[in-house]
Amino acid sequence: MSKPARHYINGEWLGDGSLGESINPANDAVLGHYHKGSAGLTEQAARVARATFFGSTWAHSPRVRAQALFEFADQLEAAKQELAALIVAENGKLFAEAMGEMMGSISETRYYAGLARTIRGSMQEVMPGQMSLFHREAAGVAGIIVPWNAPVTLLIRSLTPAMAAGCTCVIKPAEQTSLVHAKVMECLDACPSLPKGVVNSVNEDGSVVGEAIVASAHVDVISFTGSSATGKRIMAGAAPTLKRVGLELGGKAPAIVFPDADMDLAVKELTHGALMMAGQICVAAARFLVHEAALPAFQERIKAAFEAVRVGPGQDPQSQMGAMIDRANVSRVTQLIEQAGDEGEMVLRGAALNQGAFLTPTLFRIDDLSSRLVQDELFGPIVSIERFSDEAEAVTKANATAYGLAGSVFTKDLNRALRISRAVRSGTIWVNSHIRLFAEGETGGFGQSGLGRLHGPEGLYDFLETKHIYMEQGQI
Ligand code: NAD
Repeated sequence: MSKPARHYINGEWLGDGSLGESINPANDAVLGHYHKGSAGLTEQAARVARATFFGSTWAHSPRVRAQALFEFADQLEAAKQELAALIVAENGKLFAEAMGEMMGSISETRYYAGLARTIRGSMQEVMPGQMSLFHREAAGVAGIIVPWNAPVTLLIRSLTPAMAAGCTCVIKPAEQTSLVHAKVMECLDACPSLPKGVVNSVNEDGSVVGEAIVASAHVDVISFTGSSATGKRIMAGAAPTLKRVGLELGGKAPAIVFPDADMDLAVKELTHGALMMAGQICVAAARFLVHEAALPAFQERIKAAFEAVRVGPGQDPQSQMGAMIDRANVSRVTQLIEQAGDEGEMVLRGAALNQGAFLTPTLFRIDDLSSRLVQDELFGPIVSIERFSDEAEAVTKANATAYGLAGSVFTKDLNRALRISRAVRSGTIWVNSHIRLFAEGETGGFGQSGLGRLHGPEGLYDFLETKHIYMEQGQI
C-alpha cells in the first residue's frame, strides 16, 4: 500500500489531519488512505494562491503558462498506464474507459497550453483621440471542486483553462478518488516551469473544505462539477462574497429514436451511451424516447444488448461494464429498480453481484412524465423507455425535466435531426451517436444542469475578466 495521499500547498506535501480510507469498489479492499483537510488548511491554501497571484509574474506570462501546461501533459503521458490502473482500482470503471480518460486529459492539457498564448483583448477609437483598450486578464484565484466519476478529466477540464488564463488555484478532489488525485498532483509537482503556489490542493471526506473554498475571501471564481443539489448550495455559499460560479451539474439525457434510424447503430450507441462507467456519467443516455412505430423492435433489441453486457472487474479485458463507485450506490439503485417495477413495466431487471459494487443493467417502460424516475437523475445502469407519436411530442417529452445537459437524436433525415437539435433545450446534442466529448467542443447545461461552459475556447471565459482602459490623446 502506498503512502497516504497528502495535501499540496505552496509546492509542499502536507500530511495534516486524520486518515480516511480509499476503497476498491470491485472487491471492497482498502486500497490506501488520504489525509483529511480542514477549513483552516483550506484558508492557508487560498492565501498562498492569492499571494502567488499578486506576487509572481504567472498571470502576466502566457509563454510560461503554456510551457508549464506542456510539461504537465508530458508528465501525464509518462504516468498514463499507472494512472489508468489506479483509476480502475479506485473508481471501478473499465481499463479502456480509464485510458480514454487519460488520453482525453492529455489532449486537453495540450489544447489549453496552446490557447494560453492566444488570449487577446481589443482596442477601439471611440471618438477622435479617445482610445479604449479592452484587456482580457486573469480573474484571480480559482476554487476547483470535482467529483469522483472522472477524477482526472473533470479536474483537467477546469484546471487547465484556469491555468491557461493566468489564475492560481485551490483544488478539492472527491474523497472516493483521493489517490488518483494525489498522483495527478505529483505530475504537476514535477513540472519545472510551474511556480510554487500556483496550484494547491486540499483533500477531505465531507464538505468542510469545499465550503471553505466557496466562502473564502481569497477565492474569486468557483469552477464546480457535481450534482445539481450541491451546485445550489455552492451558489448560495458564494453569494456573501459575490463570487463568479461556473457549475457543471447533473443531467437526464434523452435519446430520441425515430423509425427511420439505423437500428443497429442506435442500439450500439445507446448501449454504450447508457452503460459507460456503469451509467455514472452526467451525460449518460438516461431516457430512451422511442417513436411508437419503432418501439417494439427497439425494445427487444436494446433489451438483448443490455442483457449481453458482461459486468465485471475493470482490469479484466472481457468486462464490458465495471463496478459502481460503492455498495451504497448499488443499494440506492436497487431501491430505484423496485420502484420502477411498481410504477412502470420491468423490461430487464438488474441485480447486484455477490462481490463488490457490481449491478447488472435495468430497463423499464414508463409513460408518466411526472414520475421521479423520469424527472430525477438516477446515476446508475438504469434507463427508462418512453413512447412518443410525433416530433412535437418527442420534443415536449425531451424538455420535460429540469435538466438540460445533453441528448441525442437517431434518424436518417438530417433536416429532422437539425430541427430536433434546435428544439431540445440542452447544452449538447449528438446526432446518430451518444457521448462524444473532447477538448475542442464546449459542454455545459441549460436549466438545472448548470451555468457556463467548459472545454473549447469558451472554457477560458470563466477564468477571465475584461478590463476597460480608457485614454484621451491630449492627456498622454
Ligand atoms: P456531489 O455534488 O455530491 O459532489 C461533488 C463534489 O462536491 C465532491 O468533491 C464533494 O465532496 C463536493 N461537495 C459536496 N458538498 C459540498 C458543499 N456543500 N460545498 C462544496 N463542495 C461540496 O456529486 P458526486 O456524487 O460526487 O458526483 C456525481 C454528480 O456529478 C452527478 O450529479 C453528475 O451528473 C455530476 N456530474 C456532472 C458533470 C458535468 O459535466 N455536468 C460531470 C460529472 C459529474
